[in-house]
Amino acid sequence: MGLVSAKEMLVKAKEGHYAVGQFNINNLEWTKAILTTAQENNSPVILGVSEGAAKYMTGFKTVSAMVAAMVEELNITVPVALHLDHGSYEGAKAAAAAGFTSIMFDGSHYGIEENIEKTKEITEFCHSLNISVEAEVGSIGGEEDGVVGKGEVADPKECKMIADLGVDFLAAGIGNIHGQYPENWEGLDFEALAAIQQETGALPLVLHGGTGIPDEMIAKSITLGVSKINVNTECQLYFQAATRKYIEEGKDLKGKGFDPRKLLGPGYEAIKEIVKIKMELFGSVNKA
Ligand SMILES: [Zn+2]
Repeated sequence: MGLVSAKEMLVKAKEGHYAVGQFNINNLEWTKAILTTAQENNSPVILGVSEGAAKYMTGFKTVSAMVAAMVEELNITVPVALHLDHGSYEGAKAAAAAGFTSIMFDGSHYGIEENIEKTKEITEFCHSLNISVEAEVGSIGGEEDGVVGKGEVADPKECKMIADLGVDFLAAGIGNIHGQYPENWEGLDFEALAAIQQETGALPLVLHGGTGIPDEMIAKSITLGVSKINVNTECQLYFQAATRKYIEEGKDLKGKGFDPRKLLGPGYEAIKEIVKIKMELFGSVNKA
């Protein structure tokens, strides 16, 4: 099928009351694990790439070429979108030019007027290339310089203003944060989510910071219009635990256990395991 924009899969998800997972990639193993799991579960999937991860993989062009080739060589037939996560103004344009099929422009750190102006411009540019656009209102908290933010709650009226620009889906802060949640986290603000959905209607909503949100809160958020859920940290934790176990058990010291294809194997399988768990939780299995 090749790479597609995320618009159609998310409109279908919102209508069908399920969510599509965005799983962030870091390298070839990550990408292969997520793509094969999506195919095995007949689920649409969004591969998320932050600007930092793109830089790590040497640039947007490398990522785009690798993902497109892998979809072809692995005979992946489920819908796959290659999505820039939290893109800057310059990054959004560069990723679009490099072949990404979906872009998040995160203008949440600008004032609402500048966010609107820049989101509008990026949206027009991306739509001319058939690329879907995610915008953000109300910054999503998380650990920054060691300080864990509480997670801002977006203003429903501001959400409506951004939705009216014609963006394809919208990330709105509802107390969710990136990374691991602190013990005293107050949970998602469902009143705010309901108010945001009221204002934005059929527009698919996006939940960032999916790692560590209790399953029942995930399920409830889907009933209130969340159609895309971002998972990043959880894959990293699964990969780390499996890799640690392999080393601690001394498997790298036995036979050809030092071979990177063996060394990275348990982490690869662990990513597949957590991605499958999430696809089942989000309800996207057999929705390709
Ligand atoms: Zn995010």
